[in-house]
Amino acid sequence: MIMIISGAGLSAESGIKTFRDHDGLWENYDVMKVCSTQGWEADRELVTQFYNARRKDLEDKEPNAAHFALAKLEKMYPNKIYNLTQNVDNLLEKAGCTEVTHLHGTLTDLRCEDCNHIWDVGYHSQEEYGYCPLCESTSVRHNVVMFGEAAPAYEKIYEAISNCKLLIAIGTSGQVIDIVPIAREFQHSILINPKKEEYMTSFTKETSASQTATACLSAGDDFIDDYFKHFLQMGAGDAVEEMQALIEEFMDER
Ligand SMILES: [Zn+2]
Repeated sequence: MIMIISGAGLSAESGIKTFRDHDGLWENYDVMKVCSTQGWEADRELVTQFYNARRKDLEDKEPNAAHFALAKLEKMYPNKIYNLTQNVDNLLEKAGCTEVTHLHGTLTDLRCEDCNHIWDVGYHSQEEYGYCPLCESTSVRHNVVMFGEAAPAYEKIYEAISNCKLLIAIGTSGQVIDIVPIAREFQHSILINPKKEEYMTSFTKETSASQTATACLSAGDDFIDDYFKHFLQMGAGDAVEEMQALIEEFMDER
């Protein structure tokens, strides 16, 4: 089976920006105020307005070649793909993917804080859905995982690691989900990212110290792509053909 894990770089060419593009401010919102549990507790109204705006912003965004390529893979290899994304947009689904795990939640859904029911609201504002359709609670929130909060969908990462032989990481800098320990579990792996990303987490040093010399890389000379068999240094959309060729080669060998 194939494990695909994607990040912001997958949707960048579709015009979806992340907080990293905004230098701590996101259209005049302080990122830590709108993306953290502390911020949510301090000012729910502000956070709700922020996600309303993000949802509205998503409405006219279209999938790019990479989203369509992943949808095609799903059709080529049914039930053989774990399609995991860190993105909260719906562009994979818009491209035709039906089996997507959103590790950090979904922008187009709301969640009930009382019964945990999750429902699709499309691009509408939260105010248009003042209460939970299941239990009628008015404690309603966006369905995006915030800093300081558990991400239950991460279980799928471990499930995928144990079931898959090929890892494909697309457009992820490894700063939110540490991609290196995942890559270490795979003999066959492909990283697609337009730039070399330095591997900077504290995890590196700790694990290097406890491991054999073969796994050690000197500090300052450690890049995420060193841990992958193939590195396609390009944007997700441009990598489509090479990625497909590598996957087909791998699957033909099975
Ligand atoms: Zn409810």
